[in-house]
Amino acid sequence: MTVYLNGRFLPLEEAHIPVLDRGFIFGDGVYEVIPVYSRRAFRLAEHLKRLQHSLDGMRLPNPHNEAEWSALINELIARNNGEDQYLYLHITRGVAKRDHAFPQPPVPPTVFMLSSPLAQPAASLLASGVSAVTAEDNRWLRCDIKAISLLPNVLLRQMAVDAGCTETILIRKGNDGADFLTEGAASNIFVVKHGTLLAPPKDNLMLPGITYDVVLEIAAAQGIPHQVRRITQAEVIAADELLLTSSTKEVLPVTTLNGQAVGDGKPGPMFSRLHGLYQTFKHEVMRQP
Ligand code: PLP
Repeated sequence: MTVYLNGRFLPLEEAHIPVLDRGFIFGDGVYEVIPVYSRRAFRLAEHLKRLQHSLDGMRLPNPHNEAEWSALINELIARNNGEDQYLYLHITRGVAKRDHAFPQPPVPPTVFMLSSPLAQPAASLLASGVSAVTAEDNRWLRCDIKAISLLPNVLLRQMAVDAGCTETILIRKGNDGADFLTEGAASNIFVVKHGTLLAPPKDNLMLPGITYDVVLEIAAAQGIPHQVRRITQAEVIAADELLLTSSTKEVLPVTTLNGQAVGDGKPGPMFSRLHGLYQTFKHEVMRQP
């Protein structure tokens, strides 16, 4: 496996980071996960735009322009096996004496990229759906930044695993006492009610998912009724269908929530339709020159 670290492509075993890297010490960095289908990065421009947003959020200049990122990413894809891969990009504020404030003068950022094989979600998962639990979203107020400091997400995801489930669906306590859906511990969540697809609005309380955008674009293009608005916890609990999206899982049905069936407990018609349309969309995009 060949990885990229600070200007060099090298075997994973030879990639080393100094212990004073601010990513290691403070979690002071951001990342991206980009799926690659048929050796082409999917929605690269959108992922690079979100990376820029995350870098702006951490006040770190982007070490590369879009053309440079593209070239590096294409080279990493070429140097690794597999038609379908997923790329992990990781940028930290670099190596400096431990001090919370930014290093002065600034030090070079650490730039790391890794490619892993991308497997489609198993057919059995698509057929049965996955289970989830709900938990209070106790993260910070800049969840729109794809920060590497993921301890809250790690603890929240582990709650699902401890309950024998796949994902934790996060509910934020509103100032007005109303509890509302934000996202999953590592995914975005959609609710389906009476044939309408409901999505929480992109704001500072959730990661603006690239897959989330694709699903809403497909819904708009196909005339599928949809609304982007705040979704209450009660609406999540009473959903006809729940869908989970992410770059590596694409679109998955959540068929059990907190031990109770979602709708009739089987993947529903909205899931089947969106999943099919997502596959078509993906293959069409990959065929474009
Ligand atoms: N929300 C969180 C917290 C995530 O970690 C992820 C991806 O891993 C997503 C949403 C989905 O984003 P994307 O569709 O860009 O993978």
